[in-house]
Amino acid sequence: RKSSPAQTEFYQAAEEVLECLRPLFERYPEYLEHSIIERIVEPERQIMFRICWVDDKGTVQVNKGYRVQFNSALGPYKGGLRFHPSVTSGTIKFLGFEQIFKNALTGLPIGGGKGGSDFNPKGKSDGEIMRFCQAFMSELYRHIGPNTDVPAGDIGVGKREIGYLFGQYKRITGLYEGVLTGKGLDWGGSIGRKEATGYGAVYFAQNMLKARGQEISNKTCLISGAGNVAIYTIEKLYELGAKPITCSDSSGTIVDENGIDLDLLKELKETRRVSLKHYLEKHTQANYIPNSEYPDDGHSVWRLKADLAFPCATQNELTGADADALLENGIYCISEGANMPSTADAVDKFLVAKIAYGPGKAANAGGVATSQLEMAQNSSMEKWSLDKVDSKLKAIMENIHTQCAETAEEFGEPTNLVLGANIAGFRKVANAMIEQGVT
Ligand code: NDP
Repeated sequence: RKSSPAQTEFYQAAEEVLECLRPLFERYPEYLEHSIIERIVEPERQIMFRICWVDDKGTVQVNKGYRVQFNSALGPYKGGLRFHPSVTSGTIKFLGFEQIFKNALTGLPIGGGKGGSDFNPKGKSDGEIMRFCQAFMSELYRHIGPNTDVPAGDIGVGKREIGYLFGQYKRITGLYEGVLTGKGLDWGGSIGRKEATGYGAVYFAQNMLKARGQEISNKTCLISGAGNVAIYTIEKLYELGAKPITCSDSSGTIVDENGIDLDLLKELKETRRVSLKHYLEKHTQANYIPNSEYPDDGHSVWRLKADLAFPCATQNELTGADADALLENGIYCISEGANMPSTADAVDKFLVAKIAYGPGKAANAGGVATSQLEMAQNSSMEKWSLDKVDSKLKAIMENIHTQCAETAEEFGEPTNLVLGANIAGFRKVANAMIEQGVT
């Protein structure tokens, strides 16, 4: 039922999941008898609201806000908030849909949700960011709670924004509770949460490689993005002895054959919040490719020779032509830190080539899993050590890989982790929905 052109990303995500479920329905028709498909593609609730705030010049600005509470069969809604000018209700709906299956794969009690705004944080002062976040929370607070819906960060929402959102929630409700994750370490945040998505994507790659008798050390890696997920993917790759040679932002790509300077990257993106082109001020030997010079049919970051690739920026950033280039250049393992970064065409090519391909809903689930660990710490008033959080993250990523691989095997396509992830995630949610009756 494709009824709205504004939902192309949602249809892309839904089509991929439903295509993979065909063999499950052939074997277990009871899912069809319970109308699970019709129920699972419809969000339980979608909230849209107006956000009015005052900029530094005293002008009133207006943005759109969204929260999609997609599915609560397995637990309270959980999923990030995205602040980016490209955000529409369709973007949030696709992300919320993916989140249902990702959260199910973690094995933790969390349902799927997502939210955000078309607000552009770029170039805004701290005061403007704070006033926007306060206005956003002034509406959102009535829809969320530690046992109902617990948002986190995503593109454009990091510790600073979570802080302003949390402060406003506390001011309005008078409650100091775990209503958001990704909080500061001194006020309820979990150690290891900031690093979790990137580290998890590397652990997932490690598991895929191990299953094929290979290791991650000494491998050359391509990474897109220069934000939270990309930075901690690069950090973990270095720790494991691999060599990350690229990163990218919305205006261009850095290629540094000596290996990306991680301290500099953190300084540019976490502290100064400036464009990657400033990387050249310290490393004149590196190559900066502005996005005006990207190929018409894709992205320069995927046109280089390497062993492994980690798309960590945004959806549909890796096209069919990019996939051809990666395969020609000998890439044999792809682990997606971003949500749906590969187009449907690119995914098909990876599956036909039978390379190790970890789809986002499996490979980047370490972030939301660690968010749930933050919720567990908040509700028990505990603070866990980095060792404890990291060893749980490692075990969760290994378990997700095992579930995907075993399910793929069960349905006769042992290398197809897309099929494995979609069936394994769906089955958990669908079984819970059936047991909970028609709601
Ligand atoms: P950040 O905002 O920290 O970083 C995003 C990076 O991607 C930035 O470098 C940004 O460039 C670049 N980028 C964003 N949009 C575009 C675009 N349209 N074209 C080109 N570059 C773009 O976000 P995260 O690192 O948190 O998120 C990255 C991806 O990972 C997203 O797909 C997100 O949904 C996914 N993800 C994140 C999780 C998390 O825990 N944060 C958990 C699971 C998935 P610039 O620096 O110029 O803004």
